[in-house]
Amino acid sequence: MEWNIPSLKDLERYFWRCTACGTCRSAYDYGPPPFTRPICPAGTEFGFEGYYSSKGKAAFARGISDGTLTFEDPEFLSAVYKCTVCGGCQNQCQVDYKPHIPEVIEAMRREAVISGAGPMPAQKNLIQSMKNYNNPYQGPRRVRMDWTRPFKKTAPIKDINKEPAEVLFYVGCTGGFNKTAQAVPQATARIFQKLGIDFGILGENEVCCGSTAMRVGDAEEFKRVATNNLETFQRLHADRGVKTIVTSCAGCFRAIKKDYVLASEYEKMMNGIEVVHTIQYLHRLMKEGRLKFQKQLPWKVTYHDPCHTGRHLNKFSVDKDGSQLWEGAYVGVEESECLYDMPREIIKAIPGVSFVEMDRIRGNSYCCGGGGGVMTGFTDWAGRNAGLRIQEGMDTGAEKMVSICPFCYFNLTEGAKRIGSNMTLHDLTEVIDMAL
Ligand code: SF4
Ligand code: SF4
Repeated sequence: MEWNIPSLKDLERYFWRCTACGTCRSAYDYGPPPFTRPICPAGTEFGFEGYYSSKGKAAFARGISDGTLTFEDPEFLSAVYKCTVCGGCQNQCQVDYKPHIPEVIEAMRREAVISGAGPMPAQKNLIQSMKNYNNPYQGPRRVRMDWTRPFKKTAPIKDINKEPAEVLFYVGCTGGFNKTAQAVPQATARIFQKLGIDFGILGENEVCCGSTAMRVGDAEEFKRVATNNLETFQRLHADRGVKTIVTSCAGCFRAIKKDYVLASEYEKMMNGIEVVHTIQYLHRLMKEGRLKFQKQLPWKVTYHDPCHTGRHLNKFSVDKDGSQLWEGAYVGVEESECLYDMPREIIKAIPGVSFVEMDRIRGNSYCCGGGGGVMTGFTDWAGRNAGLRIQEGMDTGAEKMVSICPFCYFNLTEGAKRIGSNMTLHDLTEVIDMAL
């Protein structure tokens, strides 16, 4: 199967369109300075805008392209990886470079990997683990089933390798291997069982979605696991009757929805299969009257928008042939695929919950700091950044922060510990499970 993953050279015409204006440093929806809000975790941590924020990254791309910058310089290599690929900068940029910013950052990382220098040393362990165990957490495959222990005796979960099911619950490596995040698949499975959903899991045979590899620039490893998954999905559709793939991980969701479409056979292999996030699936059931909340939860709650279920799913329009403005002109953005309203509607429907918004939300959400390989490559920075987001949640007076990504869940939990906050983190599935 062919994969159409662009090289940095393929994207050259786009990164030269960055005007180095610096607009991408801050969110302007709050008014002119000093009312703007910081939006770039890299800029917030490292300061000097030309170096680490998006306009710096465009300059890096030009330097790599004309040969004046090389990955032999370890400081330069590290600067390319000091970015959560959150897309905050992309949301602010207003010129023709806008639709292409994260893909240029990732294309630079692919160059770094091809050169032999990238990714960062700790991230190399992730990739090696994917090669050895099909997950980035260095856990043997059987550990992937640990989260199912509480279900084994009383309510066993269907093994889709052996039995048919309409829904494949694609758990994801973070929910499977991370002890904190295991609460997410457990809550999801409990909800599905309570609602009588016909679902199954791949168990030990589940293979990483490849998001980690793609974000740190290892296209070969991404292609290996993604091809494997597409073949599995196609086989499960034909042999086990799978019609819907539900994932509770924002990273897996983004990868399957947006990275897998780069496969030449994507349409054919995914024909008849719908991919949805758990929250989309449950929102649909709520609208149909099948998901009803019974219990009061007297909580004050705020919501963190994960980048991967938010602005990463933006759809940009570009004038392809020059008929509207000029060839390559950015002409608009559409947010219909971003999961902004559904989680909020579910939270607000839970009896007793009082919902409060943080300052930076939806397209202006402030990244938890864990994405783009940062949680592994620069653990300290990821934790510090998560602490900033927790503080923003505390400023609302909320006692709980809810999100829909096991990765954000873990990193924000670490951030709360780091600043000694009493804020507790919950995945929305946990809250739904408690309210049923
Ligand atoms: S990425 Fe966009 S907003 Fe940022 S400096 Fe370049 S043109 Fe300006
Ligand atoms: S993707 Fe996020 S961290 Fe990276 S430069 Fe843009 S705003 Fe900063």
